[in-house]
Amino acid sequence: MHAFDYTAPESLASALAELEEAGDEGKVIAGGTALMILMMQRLVRPTRLISLRRLPGLGRIEVVDGGVRIGALATHRDVETSPLIRSRIPVLAETLSRVATLRIRNVATIGGCLAHADPNQDPPVTLLALDARVRIAGRQGERQVALDEFFVDYYQTALRPGEVVVAVDVAFPAPGNASAFHKFLPRTADDYATVAVAATVTLTPEGVCREARIGLGALGPTPLRARDAEAIVIGERLSDRLLAAASEAAIRVVDPIADPRGSAEYKRQMAGVFVRRALRGAWDRASREAA
Ligand SMILES: Cc1cc2nc3c(=O)[nH]c(=O)nc-3n(C[C@H](O)[C@H](O)[C@H](O)COP(=O)(O)OP(=O)(O)OC[C@H]3O[C@@H](n4cnc5c(N)ncnc54)[C@H](O)[C@@H]3O)c2cc1C
Repeated sequence: MHAFDYTAPESLASALAELEEAGDEGKVIAGGTALMILMMQRLVRPTRLISLRRLPGLGRIEVVDGGVRIGALATHRDVETSPLIRSRIPVLAETLSRVATLRIRNVATIGGCLAHADPNQDPPVTLLALDARVRIAGRQGERQVALDEFFVDYYQTALRPGEVVVAVDVAFPAPGNASAFHKFLPRTADDYATVAVAATVTLTPEGVCREARIGLGALGPTPLRARDAEAIVIGERLSDRLLAAASEAAIRVVDPIADPRGSAEYKRQMAGVFVRRALRGAWDRASREAA
């Protein structure tokens, strides 16, 4: 490991000032679960690490404007065990409970996960289906970006130099809405998914789909939305034919790479299977809630 300076500022303003001053030499660190590996592999070589861990309030999970604001420093475990998330947005707690091992979930943060932008991560898949918005702070102030527009390419986001993620906002589900997350993890608990899919559907009292969103993970350079599949199910009732059409549409948007978790073709087919499962799971839950 190369030598680097480490600071842990106690205010966001100081962290942003340090980050600006460090320029290309600086990087923020949150849980460090991804950054330390990248540094040990010499894929990145920052000479200044600015820790966010002492920033006050950034680990809060709180109700804000009809939804939940999850502070960037909330760990995966904080989200998984939050009574607020478990009761109001259970699919998010469920998704976080499926990430790697407890040791990793105890340390990795939501802000670190989003900024790292590894397309194999799980939380972004569900957060996409939940239409989450990312709150970003820089020296010029705060801005919000829809998660849909946040991921740009492999490990690349809409963050500009000197900016940090401060929170992610998720609206409470509307009446008639339910979601499901499915991930295929055939190897070890701390491996990444072969494919991961989250679906959310909102049904009318008659069982017709009013709204649907589908997030896909490990299936392209960024977490993806299966928009054509969403359009196919909106306005319809659940049927095997509908699920088959939606899963075919989803397969057309994925662009997976072959790796030890499977060939590209295998992952494409698995995407179809998991879109079907997630949609059916979300639909069944929404129907039960409506009954
Ligand atoms: C063995 C292993 C297996 C894993 N398996 C999975 C899995 O199956 N599914 C899954 O979802 N995740 C998994 N993870 C976790 C995931 O890959 C990342 O390591 C984790 O999400 C990063 O969070 P962190 O807080 O540790 O980020 P860090 O390592 O601290 O930072 C990661 C990157 O984000 C930047 N950063 C951090 N916080 C911010 C911020 N607030 N604003 C701007 N930039 C920031 C850093 O500069 C760095 O570039 C696994 C991790 C390990 C080590």
